[in-house]
Amino acid sequence: MADPQHQSTLDLATRLKVLARSCTVVARRPLSSSLVEVVLRGDASHLAGVPGNDVMLLVGADGESPTRRRYSVRSVDATADTFTLWIAAAHDGPGGRWARTVDEGDVVDVVGPRGKIPLDEVADWHLFIGDVPSMGAFFRMAQSIDVPGRAIFILELDDPTDALTPTFDEALGVTAIFVDRDGRAHDDPTGLLGGLAAFTLPPDEGHAYLFGEFHVMRAVKTALLDRGLRSEQISLKAYYRIGQANGANGEPSKDV
Ligand SMILES: Cc1cc2nc3c(=O)[nH]c(=O)nc-3n(C[C@H](O)[C@H](O)[C@H](O)COP(=O)(O)OP(=O)(O)OC[C@H]3O[C@@H](n4cnc5c(N)ncnc54)[C@H](O)[C@@H]3O)c2cc1C
Repeated sequence: MADPQHQSTLDLATRLKVLARSCTVVARRPLSSSLVEVVLRGDASHLAGVPGNDVMLLVGADGESPTRRRYSVRSVDATADTFTLWIAAAHDGPGGRWARTVDEGDVVDVVGPRGKIPLDEVADWHLFIGDVPSMGAFFRMAQSIDVPGRAIFILELDDPTDALTPTFDEALGVTAIFVDRDGRAHDDPTGLLGGLAAFTLPPDEGHAYLFGEFHVMRAVKTALLDRGLRSEQISLKAYYRIGQANGANGEPSKDV
């Protein structure tokens, strides 16, 4: 297995106490007008961790200064030693550019597994709220739910082609509400709040996972608390923040 190409990748992984690997791109294809699928080979089962985890890729380097971006793992194929990422690439940024231009055979430094939001094993239902970048994480998590169980998706899409629907176990109850962004800004919570208002939360114990734009996810969390969910039933991860590039840690700024 190849070592990372950049010493900074090894240093980062040592600090985070996770793996550093050099992975090979074995496939890239557009899935929709917004999403690109990238398949990487190399120590897949270990890097991919558990559903909900992500990996950090070195998507560019300006001299000694590396640019890394985090992407949730969509799926793993242990036999082929590959893992798949779904990357939103319709905006302009180093991560999006990398996903649009990377070729089969290219190698990339990968650090992982990362992430602290696994599936809540005791929840009766799982509510996934986000937009296009969150779809890979949500579908992997939902496909790991023990049946019978329930997965509810409320997803804001940039384009009708983003309405991707994976195959789930027939015994899993699945509800999907797709909200058309309809030209609204990516930091406008109106669409997802409307989708949520249209849905009656099931009566038993559930867990909500909010992965998406910083301001929108905060507004959705407030709405869920108003609807009676307790804060421990809500896991929020800001994936990006409109108007700002993600930082060196791969995350958007949390400054209000
Ligand atoms: C834990 C974690 C997991 C993540 N998993 C995924 C994943 O599975 N798939 C995925 O696509 N992304 C995921 N992200 C987001 C990803 O890491 C990058 O932030 C995102 O791809 C943008 O990076 P960039 O370099 O292209 O743009 P940046 O340099 O970060 O931003 C440039 C500009 O583009 C804007 N922008 C960034 N993303 C979008 C967008 N989606 N739509 C519109 N404008 C945008 C920014 O606000 C900024 O103005 C995850 C983030 C975290 C923290």
